[in-house]
Amino acid sequence: MLILSSPSGAGKSTLTRALLDTDPDIMLSISATTRQKRPSEADGVHYHFLRQREFDAMRDAGELLEWAEVHGNCYGSPREPVERSLREGRDVLFDIDWQGTLQVRQAMAADVATVFILPPSVGELRSRLERRAEDTPEVIDRRLKNAAVEIERGAGYDYVVINDDFGRCLDEVRAILKAERLKRFRQPGVTAFAETLVRELGQSLL
Ligand code: GDP
Ligand code: ADP
Ligand code: 5GP
Repeated sequence: MLILSSPSGAGKSTLTRALLDTDPDIMLSISATTRQKRPSEADGVHYHFLRQREFDAMRDAGELLEWAEVHGNCYGSPREPVERSLREGRDVLFDIDWQGTLQVRQAMAADVATVFILPPSVGELRSRLERRAEDTPEVIDRRLKNAAVEIERGAGYDYVVINDDFGRCLDEVRAILKAERLKRFRQPGVTAFAETLVRELGQSLL
């Protein structure tokens, strides 16, 4: 599980799309949310857009791996698609906030890598939110007000990447994913292979 978090507008969604487009071995955890759909979003693709009572029912039935209130709306990661993908040996990408990250870490500690994305400056963060032109000025203000707390929480993440030049930022996130996949405990077959090599070397010495 690879978790991306950032203050709103730092570029998580854009990074997520770019990773999914180029890496067939990772799938996105499509969150459920009570937030209003943005003009560019599609139900079931970017989010599952739910009414509050539908969200509450999923949460109460234990169908969410984690959930949190963010910027005044509820967001949660449906459990079943994540567990199915992991069983099938695929990686799962999450675009979730720091509260959800803590919950996923508690549930599945060993198999999580967390990446925090920082904007290059406050001015650039504001202008990205404005250029995106999908949120009202009030919503943008609220998101900027929440940015400081989110950035402070980013101190607990495994990796931090500054999204200044997009291509470089994407390369860095890809490098993190690659290195995490190469960790020994994620390659049990390679341990057996190494043992085979040692055995063969031992035999050749006889
Ligand atoms: P979220 O609401 O936190 O998920 O943020 P989004 O992913 O929806 O996007 C925030 C804003 O950043 C939007 O206006 C995007 O169009 C903008 N953005 C993301 N990536 C790039 C990029 O590579 N270049 C430019 N110019 N803008 C970008
Ligand atoms: P988030 O998902 O974190 O809220 P987005 O991915 O929507 O952020 O990015 C916010 C806006 O900034 C989008 O319009 C996106 O196209 C733009 N953006 C993202 N990364 C960069 C970058 N490196 N340089 C310029 N603009 C960017
Ligand atoms: P947005 O409304 O801009 O799409 O997302 C707002 C915030 O909610 C972002 O910080 C995003 O990472 C977070 N978020 C989206 N989905 C989930 C989720 O399923 N769980 C949690 N905890 N946070 C989420």
